[in-house]
Amino acid sequence: MSVEQAVQQLANYIGGDWRPVEGVETLDDIDPATGEIAAVVPLSGEAEVCAAADAARAAQPGWRAVPPQRRARAVLALREELERRRSELVALVSADMGKTLADADGEVGRGIESVESAAAIPHLLKGETLEGVAQGVDVEMVRQPVGVVAAITPFNFPAMIPLWFLPYAIACGNSFILKPSEQDPRPAALIVEMVDSIEEIPPGVVNLVHGGREAVTAILEEPGIDAVSFVGRAETARIVAEGAARTGKRVQALGGAKNSLVVMPDADLDETTAAIMGSAFGAAGQRCLAGSVCLVVGDPGRQAEVRATLVEAASQLTIGPGGDPATDVCPMVSAAAREKVAEAIGQGERDGAKLLLDGRRDAGPAGTFLGPTIAAANPESDLAREELFGPLLTIVDVPDLDAALEFLNGSRYGNAGAIFTRSGEAVRRYRFGAEVGMLGVNVGVPAPVAWFPFAGWKDSCDGDLHANGTDAVDFYTRKKVITSRW
Ligand code: NAD
Repeated sequence: MSVEQAVQQLANYIGGDWRPVEGVETLDDIDPATGEIAAVVPLSGEAEVCAAADAARAAQPGWRAVPPQRRARAVLALREELERRRSELVALVSADMGKTLADADGEVGRGIESVESAAAIPHLLKGETLEGVAQGVDVEMVRQPVGVVAAITPFNFPAMIPLWFLPYAIACGNSFILKPSEQDPRPAALIVEMVDSIEEIPPGVVNLVHGGREAVTAILEEPGIDAVSFVGRAETARIVAEGAARTGKRVQALGGAKNSLVVMPDADLDETTAAIMGSAFGAAGQRCLAGSVCLVVGDPGRQAEVRATLVEAASQLTIGPGGDPATDVCPMVSAAAREKVAEAIGQGERDGAKLLLDGRRDAGPAGTFLGPTIAAANPESDLAREELFGPLLTIVDVPDLDAALEFLNGSRYGNAGAIFTRSGEAVRRYRFGAEVGMLGVNVGVPAPVAWFPFAGWKDSCDGDLHANGTDAVDFYTRKKVITSRW
């Protein structure tokens, strides 16, 4: 068998059938560690999106009529399938996105928690009543599904983010179309393969369309789709939010981030350093919760101590393929992504930043390796303000907590932030004043568990409702209020 023949040609999954896509452009799905072509991704367009919307529309009335307890059991069957094939999914996340196996296992575990949270749907769907609002008149509120909903997901959590949406959407009685990132869509395809094996989920309830921009445009234009969930860069989130609004769709669009980690003078430096290493360099900085700016509060002596400690710890990290258990810093998703960050580091240096640790060494066989990099930079520089999404930590010295809050609240983003301290008073001021949706206290990656809403503020989220938890149920249902006189 030739290499070309061995490469997997990905197919769409529409109306319960795997459908090869003919006559469209394709993209190679590359293993970020080796540069080998792992799969060929069809870049679907309007015809494929329209077929998925038709299949989803046809399936939805029947699915909506299934009692919520049975829909919950179907979601639980997916949970069992995810656990049964967990190691396979973990290995695929690592191979396709590049992250370490430990990170991939954490991601899949978080995805399973979303499924578990959605399995409580009979409770979550319950409405409200108020008796006797007038003589013989009662009022009830019930929740009904929105209809056909789509999710457009990013490369950095190729299993978890599809699982933020799929289980809640179908548990609420909607049918669902997933358009995963074209850069690493194989974990999403495996999840849909699991769905396909579950008898309780009828054909057409879950559909998969591979593609890039053109598929997104088709989703936004498609009249048969009622709501869109999106996660990706802030620029794309805005395109999606505007496009959805233009065609009258409900939308939640989670965007990018530039998260600050505040190190107070009383922080335990060992524990803080370990947390910052994980936050800044885990998954090669390609997490929306990555701490990419470290705000060091204190006098110049303390600031120098924190810097030296961070540089020393980062220089001990091992760079390597995600599949190697010794690896701390995995490859970036593509050579282009690596190049963008390397160029930004060079530009930052030319603009006056001081490189304390330079990771721009051997880029590896696929041109994707970038070592941990630490720069001391001006608070208004691009290194301190722009999302660069790589293993790059920018250190900004600030005199006090007020200055730290002023810096972080000056960001266009408001995804996450964290403070490291032993002071309850400092924590109280920080949690009161920080303009972020997710906040950590001595926690470097403050990812909410699935029973809580997940998203940021400002340009980190276009839309009112966050992912997961009761927000997901609010997003995927419409409220109807019935006033009765008997
Ligand atoms: P991206 O915006 O490039 O892509 C996301 C999705 O949008 C993909 O499915 C892609 O096919 C599509 N897309 C890309 N460009 C488009 C365009 N111009 N028009 C229409 N569709 C387009 O994002 P990415 O690089 O895959 O993911 C990384 C980004 O996601 C980072 O900015 C990260 O912060 C963000 N992110 C945010 C959260 C959050 O919770 N807020 C979570 C994870 C990732």
